[in-house]
Amino acid sequence: MERTYLIKPHLRRDYPFVSYGRGVYLYDVAGKRYLDGCSGAVTANIGHGVEEIIHVMNEQAKKVAFVYRSQFTSEPAEKLADKLSQLAPGGEYGTFLVNSGSEATETAMKIAIQYWQEKGKMGKNKILSRWLSYHGITIGALSMSGHPTRRARFVPLLEDFPSICAPYCYRCPYHSTYPSCQLQCARELEQAIERIGAEHIAAFIAEPIIGAAGAAITPPDGYYEKIRDICNKYDILLIVDEVMTGLGRTGKMFAIEHWNVQPDLITLGKGLGAGYTPIAATLASKQVLEPIFEGSGVIMSGHTLSANPLSAATALAVLSYVETHRLPEKAAETGRYLFTQLTSFKKRFPWIGDIRGKGLLIGIEFAVPNAKGMLPSPLSFTELVVTKAQHLGLLVYPAAAGNGRDGAAIIIAPPLTITKEEVDELITLLKQTFLQLERELP
Ligand code: PLP
Repeated sequence: MERTYLIKPHLRRDYPFVSYGRGVYLYDVAGKRYLDGCSGAVTANIGHGVEEIIHVMNEQAKKVAFVYRSQFTSEPAEKLADKLSQLAPGGEYGTFLVNSGSEATETAMKIAIQYWQEKGKMGKNKILSRWLSYHGITIGALSMSGHPTRRARFVPLLEDFPSICAPYCYRCPYHSTYPSCQLQCARELEQAIERIGAEHIAAFIAEPIIGAAGAAITPPDGYYEKIRDICNKYDILLIVDEVMTGLGRTGKMFAIEHWNVQPDLITLGKGLGAGYTPIAATLASKQVLEPIFEGSGVIMSGHTLSANPLSAATALAVLSYVETHRLPEKAAETGRYLFTQLTSFKKRFPWIGDIRGKGLLIGIEFAVPNAKGMLPSPLSFTELVVTKAQHLGLLVYPAAAGNGRDGAAIIIAPPLTITKEEVDELITLLKQTFLQLERELP
């Protein structure tokens, strides 16, 4: 293994050097082709090397790439915020631009706390979240996240934010089944609020479909409606983290549109820049912004590179591409096809426990323990699947599941532009991966 000065996530691992990307494929410098079955980290939603985007980036870079947000606004940033408000589910939202999903959720947390301060409720400063969630790697975002492996080293630094169970039907925390459970997982929110006291809670945050911490855990119908009712009843803001699910990924522009719910704050990231630029956003409803506008008039957050015209123009071009190519509808349709194909795997591979998700965000959870006793440990099994797939030329995303430590899972989330033939190729490569795994393991 060659040592270089670039610090990569796994210091003792060899990484292939990427050369270029086109559509759903990435090519390394040795000429090997990889089918991007997970859009990187569920990010490259429109595929790689899209000419329209590259053209817009070029043109904007020639005009102006960066201005400091406290000195100038720009046409791309203004237009992007207008567009997001137009697309957002039911109502007017203001957009605060940042550079990563972690910054977006941390900003949502800060805006929620500030909102209550501006209304004179200084004690409302806790954020309730779910155990099994991922909202980002910075300390504030990680404090709201129930991802045991990502939290483990930093627990002493994290805020002691309360959490409730996830709507995880495959391994129901209450050992019940839907609908006779009467959505106990949602009712737990009310119990937590009663226990902690609504006067201490600013907001509840949830990913519409749980990504990295749950491999596309999708709640049963009625869950979010109940959550929204409880938030209303106790005067608690609802933050919906759409960093992974937003902008077409699940078959709707916003995943929360699968349910009849309007959030107070929404976060976006990944698919907003689709990997062409680092950009993310926190959307706040008019009702949330009003007391801040009338009060201090200042949003106490921001980063030097936020709202730079180059990233804003790029994201605007990405959104236009998503709309013109009707990618949410396409994701719904292709997702159905992919889901059906994957479901047929369950018969052949009994160690596949659950397949779930919506649109082109599909999670596969492996049953632990399994009949053959072939899973060495959940984390290393996930690693085995991911590494084996990559060796065969397929990229899949590792995810946690179970109680966060004891479940092995992956996410399949190719670019929304994937064709049916490319889905067939993905299926073939995944099947080869599973067959090889079966042969090689004891
Ligand atoms: N929120 C969700 C739902 C995510 O999936 C992620 C990243 O995986 C984040 C927030 C953090 O985003 P970033 O890695 O861009 O900081």
